[in-house]
Amino acid sequence: PERVFSGVQPTGSLHLGNYLGALKKFARLQHDHECVYCIVDLHAITLPQDPSKLADQTRHIAAAFLAAGVEPDKALVYAQSAVPAHTELAWYFNCVARMGWVQRMTQFKDKSGKNAEAASVGLFTYPVLQAADILAFKATHVPVGEDQKQHLELSRDIAAKFNHDFGAPQGQPNFFPLPEPLIDGPGARVMSLRDGTKKMSKSDPSDASRINLTDDATVIAKKIRKAKTDTGHVPGTVEELDGRPDIANLVGIYAALADISDADVLAQHDGSQFGPFKSALADVAVEALRPVSDLMRRYLADPDELDRILARSADAARTISEPILTDVRQIIGFHGSQ
Ligand code: ATP
Ligand code: MG
Repeated sequence: PERVFSGVQPTGSLHLGNYLGALKKFARLQHDHECVYCIVDLHAITLPQDPSKLADQTRHIAAAFLAAGVEPDKALVYAQSAVPAHTELAWYFNCVARMGWVQRMTQFKDKSGKNAEAASVGLFTYPVLQAADILAFKATHVPVGEDQKQHLELSRDIAAKFNHDFGAPQGQPNFFPLPEPLIDGPGARVMSLRDGTKKMSKSDPSDASRINLTDDATVIAKKIRKAKTDTGHVPGTVEELDGRPDIANLVGIYAALADISDADVLAQHDGSQFGPFKSALADVAVEALRPVSDLMRRYLADPDELDRILARSADAARTISEPILTDVRQIIGFHGSQ
């Protein structure tokens, strides 16, 4: 049976990259898969955060999931901290994963910056918790952006090592499935509007680097107008985007939002100056995001309803994950688990 798991951190404001790389796929998958969508607040505390905002941030992500088309009677939408299986399995996996594997993760290097010694241990073991998130549900498929590819490979390594170390536990050589990333499609890697070599991120201190799902039409147009370009024109072919990451990014965003190919975008705007191209892109972006941000505002206006959805999903998430953890305790051999 196929089960989908994915998570989004309740940190900062959701942006176009999150929408195209993750949220948009979430709704599509719920029709033919069992889907578990998690607001990963345990991940959010790996960096300094504001305790007076965390609960509201969690509701903000829940509203975005629903606005992107996730239906609470088809898919689960809950907060990670409400389901103990995440932290418990993360500890077991900390004892399965190898230092060398985790040390290779580039996200830790990016997020800890120059002073890795001062980073939290949680930030270092973040990808181990992520493996636990997925495997606490024995999920087989994980829709994520391209930036999560390396973490997904680590999840597979951890699953394989657990299966191997405990020698076909319960007679099942694949006690844990090896989860597969679903990274296909345009928008899997949306880059910063200020720097086409850096991914668009919630945690980027520059708000001008990203288009937030809650930005209004004026703000969207202004950010696109100010997006970094070069002194040339819009080229006519995809090959000519080589070595022009800022332009390639704008073309990619245009294509993803308008549901056409990069080549189509270029054919339509061949030789155009960036001014008119950017205003066409702003129109496409405003048009595509308006229904999402309108719906998000509607959901946010009823926090009690959001809380009910989160609570109901958390119950269901515990019901799925608890028996899996019971098996894991027994496989590891803890006293009282046999
Ligand atoms: P942070 O900077 O706090 O890590 P983030 O923008 O990376 O925030 P996450 O909550 O870490 O957001 O990721 C949520 C989902 O969005 C993941 O599936 C991730 O792969 C995807 N995603 C994040 N940034 C991008 C991007 N620039 N392009 C495409 N997908 C993205
Ligand atoms: Mg991230």
